[in-house]
Amino acid sequence: MFEYTAPTNLLENRIILVTGAGDGIGRAAALSYASHGATVILIGKTAAKLDAVYDEIEALGGPQPAIVPLNLETATEHDYIELTNILENEFGRIDGLLHNAGILGVRTPLESYDPIIWQQVMQVNVNAAFILTQNLMPLLRRSEDASIIFTSSGVGRAGRAYWGAYSVSKFATEGMMQILADELENTTNIRTNCINPGATRTNMRAYAYPAEQPENNPEPASIMPLYLYLMGPDSKDINGQSLDAQGIYPKKL
Ligand code: NDP
Repeated sequence: MFEYTAPTNLLENRIILVTGAGDGIGRAAALSYASHGATVILIGKTAAKLDAVYDEIEALGGPQPAIVPLNLETATEHDYIELTNILENEFGRIDGLLHNAGILGVRTPLESYDPIIWQQVMQVNVNAAFILTQNLMPLLRRSEDASIIFTSSGVGRAGRAYWGAYSVSKFATEGMMQILADELENTTNIRTNCINPGATRTNMRAYAYPAEQPENNPEPASIMPLYLYLMGPDSKDINGQSLDAQGIYPKKL
């Protein structure tokens, strides 16, 4: 596991948007960011799940979060403009953006991959992250110290049979992160990196590996050290990296 102990006020006064915040790793990240002082903007498909996370944040005494239900598969340009306007009026800037929402699609050979599912996976995992980032750039530029984190996967670095659109989407995510990091290097206060969570106990993992014992994988809450490190000021000089939440790294990156 990536080793990092965050001070409890690490993210104080930061406005951080998390996609897929209602479940799995995104939920854990939203709770963790809020418990370290951030005002979290919860984006996700299922409003009831976002409401539950909202309540959990209130219960732990974190700053009042904001909820924006948004289906990243069907969202239109208008939806993104509206979201940006709301955030602009409410907060005036964004200090962190965690692109976490994702779907698996199907596990099947490319030869028989359903093109409709292919489009859905690319829409949620890649296109939505691009459009959201593009819309939020003006608000990120207003931050003194902003961090954009994309979510990758082992199959985004080496292709593996039957992982189809999901694997391709994660390669694209790595590429998007590298391009953005290079474009913004030395010119802004925005850093851009990827996290590969590694095998983590979530619905997606259970669906991808039905024969696996879920207890053998760490819970989302336990992979949070890297999520905190990359979102907070201690990672100010880290840009263009793809890091493993469950990787072993030297004490100081
Ligand atoms: P889950 O399936 O548990 O959670 C996915 C989240 O994304 C949910 O909150 C879901 O919302 C949201 N989401 C899905 N589709 C949409 C959509 N159309 N619009 C808005 N939100 C949507 O997955 P994980 O927590 O496991 O995965 C999180 C990220 O980590 C993903 O990018 C995944 O690829 C990556 N990852 C996970 C690994 C693992 O072992 N778990 C390993 C490597 C990478 P809702 O519940 O409302 O549908």
